[in-house]
Amino acid sequence: QERSSFLIVANRLPVDRVGESEWRRSPGGLVTAIAPVMQRRDGAWLGWHGAADEKLEPFDYDGMHLIPIPLSALEVERYYEGFSNATLWPLYHDVVATPVYSRVLWDAYRRVNERFAQAAAEAADEGAVVWVQDYQLQLVPAMLRRLRPDLRIGFFLHIPFPPAELFCQLPWRREILEGLLGADLVGFQRPGGASNFIRLSRRLLGLPHQKNEIHVDGRVVRAQAFPISVDFGEYDNLVRRPEVIARAKEIRAELGDPDHVLLGVDRLDYTKGIGQRLKAFGELLAEGTIQPGEAVFVQIATPSRERVEEYRRLRNDIELSVGRINGEHGILGMQPVQYLHQSYTRQELAALYLAADVMVVTPLRDGMNLVAKEYIACHHDLRGALVLSEFAGAADELKHAFLVNPYDVDGLKRAMVAGMRATPHELARRMRFLRRRVSTYDVNRWAGEFLSALERPSTVQPLAS
Ligand code: UDP
Repeated sequence: QERSSFLIVANRLPVDRVGESEWRRSPGGLVTAIAPVMQRRDGAWLGWHGAADEKLEPFDYDGMHLIPIPLSALEVERYYEGFSNATLWPLYHDVVATPVYSRVLWDAYRRVNERFAQAAAEAADEGAVVWVQDYQLQLVPAMLRRLRPDLRIGFFLHIPFPPAELFCQLPWRREILEGLLGADLVGFQRPGGASNFIRLSRRLLGLPHQKNEIHVDGRVVRAQAFPISVDFGEYDNLVRRPEVIARAKEIRAELGDPDHVLLGVDRLDYTKGIGQRLKAFGELLAEGTIQPGEAVFVQIATPSRERVEEYRRLRNDIELSVGRINGEHGILGMQPVQYLHQSYTRQELAALYLAADVMVVTPLRDGMNLVAKEYIACHHDLRGALVLSEFAGAADELKHAFLVNPYDVDGLKRAMVAGMRATPHELARRMRFLRRRVSTYDVNRWAGEFLSALERPSTVQPLAS
């Protein structure tokens, strides 16, 4: 078997199956940014292929070598839906939902992580660079280092890294922390995530650090922020296409050509603050600040994790409040909230972004939030207002958005009204700043900076262990 000098290890392969045995590249910035690196370096990508109880041989797709990792149906339930999405996800997002702590789920997580580490150890060439992705695989760096000390190992966490006070709830906090410390470079979305990690390492394991480098077992582990971004060019091109421009016009017409189109685009997740923004919009209607027919709120809520209990409850809550608002404030033929529990293509999303006057992004906690950056990439016309939660990673970079605390309903209402009423001149001024940031720091730059940091040796002398 051929070995690779560059490996990506992620929960999912970058492809989705269509029909019996056809594959299609999955949407998303990560694949877009990494595919060219993979092709250039003859790399391989290890991940689950999306079908439980099915073993697949490695195959090539689109210039990438793909190595499928099998998962049983029980493992999908325990490692993925369970430990990853019912334990780690809520814990790392400020416990906005209560995490489930269960030894059965933990055992599955450990076993699946071991399988990924084994497969990576077999696929990696001498001295290869291995980049492990995200919260589903936090034990892989240390497991892999034990098997293959010759490798250069990077890890990037796409979700927030919580303060030590929250992280320490986890019964397996030590194992997870030691798992991550197996990497040479641990990347986070925000500087706050990196400092939480450094502080936790000292508190829990007594590890000393110099600036952002942690000393462990005679090695140094660097912790640093690399805010992920979008493929700016892709969206910028999309919204210049005549069919997308026409579709944006058509969307506004279908909505009854209101003065203001407000838009939310999220996975239906309790971290996204969808309930908070609906509440704010409902109050604006109730108190008469906005008239029905003057503004329409389009909320795209993509189906997500529907087998996890908390997500079913959330769906019911959201659909109840949409029904209430429309019932109380709608007029015949016109509903103020247009709620769509569906998933859309990038082209349709681009048309929606282009059609929207106010983009409302109000997560209670979010690693980054790519939707906010996609909206900016779609507005070379310099129109449009971005209302953005300060608890999204994106807020670090997007200071010229209308920043809000989503728990503060009055503040949220003020920001939505400010976005609707701002002059074109004011919106253009803000949008120019926002576009400067997102166009220069796009997803290719993100991948490039992570990888060059990973391959640059540390200048700090390791302390003897
Ligand atoms: N998205 C999509 N179709 C949809 C809704 C969302 O392709 O119907 C994409 C969206 O364009 C964005 C991603 O899903 O790139 C969501 O990323 P984000 O960081 O905003 O949130 P996450 O879902 O990762 O928590």
